[in-house]
Amino acid sequence: MTQPKDTRFMDTIVSLCKRRGFVFQASEIYGGIGNTYDYGPLGVELKRRVKEAWWTRMVTLRDDMVGLDSAIIQNPKTWETSGHVAGFTDPMVDCKKCKGRFRADKLADASCPERPSKRPGECGGELTEARAFNLMFKTNVGAVEGAGSIAYLRPETAQGIFLNFKNVLESSRQTPPFGIAQIGKSFRNEITPGNFVFRTREFEQAEMEFFIPPAQNDQWYEYWRKERHSWYTDFGIDPTKLRMREHAKDELAHYSTGCTDVEYEYPFGWGELEGIACRTDFDLKRHSEASGKDLRYFDPETKEKYFPWVIEPAAGVDRTALTFLIDAYDEEEVEGEKRVVLHLHPEIAPVTVGVLPLVKKEGMPEKAHAIESELRRARLTTFYDESAAIGRRYRRLDEVGTPFCVTIDGDTMKDDSVTVRHRDTMLQDRVKRAELVPFLQEAIRGWKRPVKKG
Ligand code: ATP
Repeated sequence: MTQPKDTRFMDTIVSLCKRRGFVFQASEIYGGIGNTYDYGPLGVELKRRVKEAWWTRMVTLRDDMVGLDSAIIQNPKTWETSGHVAGFTDPMVDCKKCKGRFRADKLADASCPERPSKRPGECGGELTEARAFNLMFKTNVGAVEGAGSIAYLRPETAQGIFLNFKNVLESSRQTPPFGIAQIGKSFRNEITPGNFVFRTREFEQAEMEFFIPPAQNDQWYEYWRKERHSWYTDFGIDPTKLRMREHAKDELAHYSTGCTDVEYEYPFGWGELEGIACRTDFDLKRHSEASGKDLRYFDPETKEKYFPWVIEPAAGVDRTALTFLIDAYDEEEVEGEKRVVLHLHPEIAPVTVGVLPLVKKEGMPEKAHAIESELRRARLTTFYDESAAIGRRYRRLDEVGTPFCVTIDGDTMKDDSVTVRHRDTMLQDRVKRAELVPFLQEAIRGWKRPVKKG
């Protein structure tokens, strides 16, 4: 696979996303709202599949995991206890000349609003001392505004899991070691959002808290580091662009015994995709103390009551979707023309099968519609296209990562067989209509990431 190496590569991805309906600027007709995006028809399918792939592996296929969907607005004491009210801050500086605001620890990634080719302060302005800026969005609950009505939009989904630990324990029959998984929106008033959907103020997280007997900390930490790394590579992410960055001791929160960031090499440099943290018993203990509710687990075998320790893999859904797009992107020359193709894993690709009648006559569209509806009933996402020459239709579907095309031609009308064209190799198979669904299901299961050229 070959990818353009320069920073214009991000522009290529952004423009593909807009042109083909993956991601649009939010409130675009009103001029947008700073670094906020909406997902279009293909983007919403892509994100849904990322979440499905995560949920299937984390919850559906396991007997030691259950799910949760907690509220975005919780009792504000949640965030006082978790430390977010006092400490969920980034250092912020202001430019006295252009009035731009920047994250003091990310000045090298930011640009001056007055002179976008320059770094903050290079417009000739002096930067202020850094101040702590809390990233939580505040809101008011109820009809009366005032100190008593202040609440926060959650900056992470994890705290909702800790608040429900006892409820889940008592209702689900799970006992440590077990996990609670959740996918949902989080909100952070980022000082400098950017790099498209990599850093936005509203985003989705896929988080899991794994509750364990304290003595099993090291073994489960190692287990989740391996498991989360292989989730990305199993779904086709290039392992040479992934790294596991273990935090140095002085980077760790005071209560943590270890933390690893899963990082990907983006066109703009290495960035965090997911954090895997040992949180010990910090959260359960703090919420227990603050609420007066005993959140310890009673082990009926040892007759011991204890706060389970926690390993937390916390991933970003939008970042993961972006990573799949970037990683899958490929350009190559085919018959003197540029072919753009997304080599997405068939379970991640927004459309699985393109259904294409060779011509718009001789009963082919009718037959194609009938085959399409068989594929849909087998839960395969399809896209029907009868416009333009067949080669152009293949290219359009390659560009959005559709792994298979089914072509209905003159022979189909005679012997009920179709052509299956494979996105990655462009090779074709002739398949009997009656065997089409199992053929495609097998091809989805057996998919391998194409080998890099050169
Ligand atoms: P960063 O250092 O990039 O700000 P973080 O360490 O604060 O991230 P966590 O609090 O560990 O992030 O959140 C877990 C995951 O949620 C991140 O790895 C990332 O994938 C995602 N995430 C966090 N903040 C954002 C954001 N502003 N926009 C999109 N995704 C985000």
